[in-house]
Amino acid sequence: MNQFRFSRHPDIGDKVRVSFEFFPPKTEDMEARLWDTVTRLEPLKPRFVSVTYGAGGSTRERTARTVKRILNQTTLTPAAHMTCVDAARHQVDGVIQEFAGMGVTRFVALRGDPAAGVGTAYRPHPDGYANGAELVGALKSAGDFDISVSAYPEKHPESPDFATDIDMLKRKVDNGATRAITQFFFDNDLYERYVERARRAGIYIPIVPGILPVHNFTQVANFSSRCGALVPAWLAERFEGLENDPQTHALVASAVAAEQVHDLVERGVGDFHFYTMNRADLVFAVCHMIGIRSREAEAAGSAAA
Ligand code: FAD
Repeated sequence: MNQFRFSRHPDIGDKVRVSFEFFPPKTEDMEARLWDTVTRLEPLKPRFVSVTYGAGGSTRERTARTVKRILNQTTLTPAAHMTCVDAARHQVDGVIQEFAGMGVTRFVALRGDPAAGVGTAYRPHPDGYANGAELVGALKSAGDFDISVSAYPEKHPESPDFATDIDMLKRKVDNGATRAITQFFFDNDLYERYVERARRAGIYIPIVPGILPVHNFTQVANFSSRCGALVPAWLAERFEGLENDPQTHALVASAVAAEQVHDLVERGVGDFHFYTMNRADLVFAVCHMIGIRSREAEAAGSAAA
């Protein structure tokens, strides 16, 4: 029998590394769901797990609390997201010190979206850091941190062209960024073309694809149109008619994400960042398919063989 195109390659799991992104929970129910998710994903030994930061620092306390709990109660390494929105430099510097004091060594440095919402004009705080590159500089001078930044395979909606976009990424790298994590995308050719553009511009840090398993296609399609990510027609067709069929939706979503990741592995990509939406199932399934498994699962597999 022919091997399926996307069956597990014998040693893919040794080559592939993953990280997971969470957002700080707002309610007790959401908190419980996040910790179920963290507990389920922890045995997969991600390189790090990152915790987002709300617009205008609106989640500063919740982000800090979540990062602290990850540090104190898990074996995971947290990365704290930070933004520059509506904050003076001394305030941002204070947040960096607060995280560093907790033992945080990894950051994801972002400009952030305007507090009035995506699509409105961004105005830096008069005494603040103007963009992601300036924040990277502030982090670099505050300590020897691992600093990730954003990258946009379809360019950031505010960038007039790819040259401007890549130029901003270059400034972030020149200021000390060690890794870029991309906005989610569904067309791997766009990612590959972006990486080629970055390499031609002399950017050699890893550009880690951000993978968004589609928990709710309607929501993802709406969000994509706001952040400039293309939703290909084939993707819409896959989810067509599944609005009220969550089980089939989840099965299709895990197949779509696994296909995307496998294709990227075949193109030589070894690191993946998953936007978990604080839910474990799809990410766990995709990791399983690419060979990222807990020791217990591996041991059970070899005992059964
Ligand atoms: P920058 O890298 O500073 O700039 C982004 C682009 O905008 C650049 O490519 C540049 O070309 C263009 N640009 C910037 N300034 C100008 C200008 N003056 N004129 C022309 N073009 C300009 N948001 C949050 O609020 N919290 C989070 O935790 C968070 N996490 C994220 C994680 C990842 C991996 C990604 C990809 C995004 C995340 N975001 C988050 C969203 C991000 O804040 C927004 O996309 C925001 O609009 C840009 O932030 P940035 O750091 O990418 O900006």
